Amino acid sequence: MKAAMIHKHGGVDCVTVGEFPDPKVGEGDVVLEVRSAALNHLDIWIRKGRPGVQLDMPHVLGSDGAGVIAEVGPKTHGINIGDEVIVNPGLSCGCCESCRRGQQSECLTFGIVGMSRPGTFAEKVAVPFQNVYPKPDHLSFDEAAALPLAYQTAWRMLMTRAGLRAGETVLIHGIGGGVALAGLQLAKLAGAEVIVTSSSDEKLSRAKAIGADHVVNYQAIDDLIGTIKDITKGCGVDIVMDSVGAATWSTNFGVVRRGGRIVLCGVTTGLQAETDLRALYWNQLTVMGSTMGSNEDVRQMLRAVEAAKLKPVMDSVKSLEEIRETMSRMEAGEQFGKIVVKVT
Ligand SMILES: [Zn+2]
Repeated sequence: MKAAMIHKHGGVDCVTVGEFPDPKVGEGDVVLEVRSAALNHLDIWIRKGRPGVQLDMPHVLGSDGAGVIAEVGPKTHGINIGDEVIVNPGLSCGCCESCRRGQQSECLTFGIVGMSRPGTFAEKVAVPFQNVYPKPDHLSFDEAAALPLAYQTAWRMLMTRAGLRAGETVLIHGIGGGVALAGLQLAKLAGAEVIVTSSSDEKLSRAKAIGADHVVNYQAIDDLIGTIKDITKGCGVDIVMDSVGAATWSTNFGVVRRGGRIVLCGVTTGLQAETDLRALYWNQLTVMGSTMGSNEDVRQMLRAVEAAKLKPVMDSVKSLEEIRETMSRMEAGEQFGKIVVKVT
C-alpha cells in the first residue's frame, strides 16, 4: 500500500511517500481503508524524534483518520465491513487503574496511533476496534478526519478539565492552530465569551467570522495583559486555553482572574517557561495540564458536534504526495484550521 513514512528522524526531507506492507488485522483490531487523514503538531514531534520514544523504522506517520472498515478481527464486535468511521488515535490498555476509572488518556501505557503503531497517512491502517466511532453523518470524510485529535483535546481542556460554564470568558492564544480553533468553536457552543489572539490580522478576522467575541493582535499592541484586562472590565478571564507554551505562559498569570483556571495542552514554542508563583497562590489560580481525551470525552465531543451539526475549521485539503509541503506549512504556523490529507 502507499504510505507517508520516515526512515529516520529529522527535518521534512525525512518524509517519503512509497510502498509499505499492508497492515495485518490483529484479533481485536479492525482495518480501515483510509479516505482522509489530518495533520497534527504531533506528526512533527514524532518526525523529529522524542526522548524515550523508540520507533520501528520505517514508520508511518499520521494520527487522525476517517475511512471505511475493510477487515475485522475475530475478537471485535459491533463493527462491520463497510462501516464509515473515524479513528480515535488514543491507545490505552483497558485494564490499568486509570483505564478502569474511565480516564484512558491517563493510561500507564498511553500511546497514540501514528506514534505507538503505524499511522493514518496510508491507504490502510489497523487500530483496536474500540478506537473507531461512526463517522458523523453531516461530515464528509475530509471533515471527519479533521475532528478526532484536536476536538477531543479541546473538549477535555475546556469541559472536563477547566469545567467551562455558560457565560464565562475564555482566552485562546494563537488562533489558527487546530486545537485553538476547536476550542473557539466548542467554547462558543457552550455559551462562553471568547477572546482570541494572533499576530495575523487575517487570522483574527476569520476567527471573528466563526464566532470570536474579541480579537487581539498581540504584535500590534504594547500591553497584552492590559488589553485583556480592559476587555474583561478589569477582572481577567475565567479560563486561559493555552496550546502555545513558553511564549504565552508568563502572560497567562497576568490575564486570568482571581480564582481562574489555566489549562495547557501543548508547547509549540518551547518547553521551559517562568511561572509567577506569587500570582499563582495569591490569586488562587488552578493550573492544569491536559492530554487528548478519555473515551467519554470523545463520546461527549462527538455528540455535541452532531447535535450542533458543527463542522471543523479546515485550512486545506492536500494529497499524500504533498505531505512535505503540508508539514512545512504547519511547522511555519501558516495554517488556519486543520490541514487534511486526502488519501484514497
Ligand atoms: Zn490503561
